[in-house]
Amino acid sequence: MAFDIEMIEKVYSNFSSRIEAARKLLNRPLTLTEKILYAHLHESQSLEDFQRGGSYVDFAPDRVAMQDATAQMALLQFMQAERTTVAVPSTVHCDHLIQAKVGADIDLSTAKDQNKEVYDFLASVSDKYGIGFWKPGAGIIHQVVLENYAFPGGMMIGTDSHTPNAGGLGMIAIGVGGADACDVMAGLAWELKFPKLIGVKLTGKISGWTSAKDVILKVAGILTVKGGTGSIVEYFGEGARSLSATGKGTICNMGAEIGATTSIFGYDEKSEIYLRGTKRGDIADLADQIKEHLTGDEEVYANPENYFDQVIEINLSELEPHINGPFTPDLAWPISKFAAAVKENGWPAKIEVGLIGSCTNSSYEDISRAASLAQQAIDKNLIAKSEFTITPGSEQVRYTVERDGFLATFGKMGGVVLANACGPCIGQWDRHGAEKQEKNSIITSFNRNFSKRADGNPNTHSFVASPEIVTAMAISGDLTFNPLVDTLTNSKGEQVKLEEPTGWEMPVNGYDVKDAGYQSPAEDGSKVSVIVDPKSARLQLLEPFKAWEGTDLKGLKLLIKAKGKCTTDHISMAGPWLKFRGHLDNISNNMLIGAVNYFNEKTDSVKNQLTGEYLSVPKVQRDYKAKGVGSIVVGDENYGEGSSREHAAMEPRFLGVRAVLVKSFARIHETNLKKQGMLGLTFVNKDDYNKIQEDDSIDILGLTSFAPGKTLTIQLTHKDGSTESFAVAHTYNAQQIEWFKAGAALNIIRAGVAA
Ligand code: SF4
Repeated sequence: MAFDIEMIEKVYSNFSSRIEAARKLLNRPLTLTEKILYAHLHESQSLEDFQRGGSYVDFAPDRVAMQDATAQMALLQFMQAERTTVAVPSTVHCDHLIQAKVGADIDLSTAKDQNKEVYDFLASVSDKYGIGFWKPGAGIIHQVVLENYAFPGGMMIGTDSHTPNAGGLGMIAIGVGGADACDVMAGLAWELKFPKLIGVKLTGKISGWTSAKDVILKVAGILTVKGGTGSIVEYFGEGARSLSATGKGTICNMGAEIGATTSIFGYDEKSEIYLRGTKRGDIADLADQIKEHLTGDEEVYANPENYFDQVIEINLSELEPHINGPFTPDLAWPISKFAAAVKENGWPAKIEVGLIGSCTNSSYEDISRAASLAQQAIDKNLIAKSEFTITPGSEQVRYTVERDGFLATFGKMGGVVLANACGPCIGQWDRHGAEKQEKNSIITSFNRNFSKRADGNPNTHSFVASPEIVTAMAISGDLTFNPLVDTLTNSKGEQVKLEEPTGWEMPVNGYDVKDAGYQSPAEDGSKVSVIVDPKSARLQLLEPFKAWEGTDLKGLKLLIKAKGKCTTDHISMAGPWLKFRGHLDNISNNMLIGAVNYFNEKTDSVKNQLTGEYLSVPKVQRDYKAKGVGSIVVGDENYGEGSSREHAAMEPRFLGVRAVLVKSFARIHETNLKKQGMLGLTFVNKDDYNKIQEDDSIDILGLTSFAPGKTLTIQLTHKDGSTESFAVAHTYNAQQIEWFKAGAALNIIRAGVAA
């Protein structure tokens, strides 16, 4: 279907020359990660320009994938570039907004109703700009990408943190914010800090109850939720080659839980089998021709400690099934130690619900192995003690496992099939009784188990395991059950034991699907209109931000001097506000409402200098905007850390804030501000933060000669008429200064398209 063989041919045609050049320059063998990164350097970036470790590098990704929640603002921004089509192949996937309540059919039709305006917008904007559109019900972004778009040696960015799933097929796939996706679709380079490299050597072979999921559950236990930060994890060794491509996808997917930039496996026989099995034999043929470049060099894997920053070794033959949790995915328990942990910690032993599937674990292999246990339960007269749900990752998998009888088997065990969507994994689970907030346990094959994630109940103890273990535990209904050694009492009072699960890596009769749920974009999008209801509360077309007026900025009012931590959550809160993520005006009513006002230590209470009243931050700023008065936000250290959401930069820009002046910035937020045409400045002398008073009028001087590396001046006029000034620094390069002058980076792209 919609893969782009020509694009892949082009990528591969560059591989040899670029990798040879890198090898020569570095004078050493290369890891797979390095090869793919070097092969995707942006044309503006020369190989000599950067050193591994620490430097920021421009890349040219091959693809963009977006899920429906984050795609909204990314695409609203992209429209501003006024291109006729996206610069690289891109897709939208409707998966996050479907709530799981009753079962697939009813839940899907309710979601289509409730989210109609969002789906209509996404379908029409995709149609217009050459973007592949996967309708609600088609599946979860990462599973659909693995089945259709991932290819060995490719580079993809996706607006979702589990984008690394495609690493299972040898792709560098990285989760990003909507602004990055917008840039790449608009034809800009994409910047990444060159990562550290963690090598995971897998020896032996998994068997019996152990599955690929247990590899990442073990790795999460070793590295913890922070251990992979700033790193790409590269798996290799005979054990890696023995894992199915979808199993590798599971490992890379959940690698997001150790904070890794992404994870990757090399191209091997299993990748080839999967590509051919998913009707992409032409890609396998191409990959075979350059297969020596689609894995790390032999010398690297022979002496990994010389080439990776950290090396971990795991013997798959000795790896036990694991159960991780509760409340964090890195609390790893081998199954033999888990029952004791349950008892010692007083976790509720009764399992209320077992949930399998999600983008992490819903391959044919996963479902067939889990179904083999369900069949055993039926054959051995066991009645499942817990509720049980199945979330297929894609319509292709769902259709195929239904055809092969597995869904019917789950049905006999009392399982409920949910829509091919995120559902409970992202808290879109209208779980009956969750509002009572009772202490309870659930077990899932998902990837995240933070408090409240699944059902909103902070007392739900959520554990993560493989689909096989989840199924066995759901049959037993008891967290202290160890299916490897324990027996269960059946309906006849007999003691029975579950045998090891069995299944198929790939369907013997091939994958099949009637309607995969894909909508191709129009050949000629110029006649397609993007559907946005002007009265919509959830979507609003964007107006370009105004260009800089060409003068210094004078008489700005202090909107807020934020004290202490001010993350993107403090600047643009999530939770209920997320439903407005496609409507800049409405979501701007959350601007900075979580920031603490230095002068009264309160949140969302700042002085309106025009009236003297203390009101909420957005209200005061809207008053300034209405009266044509500019303002400035002052902040503390690491301002804008946390999620990369672009709303935190767009809202102040939209409401008329002219500059953000802080002790230091989190880098992504600083870049986001620059992209929106905002001035992001830092105190040269951090103590100058103390000079700023509540009633100050503030001038920013030096803008007419704004230049890289040259400081600007802030002049404060205090309430008593006295003045003081100090220097402020910035990190704008020449191009970013043009963004500021034009009013936003997208304004420049639009001008370039029009020229
Ligand atoms: S299934 Fe869960 S982890 Fe996967 S994309 Fe959806 S919300 Fe994210």
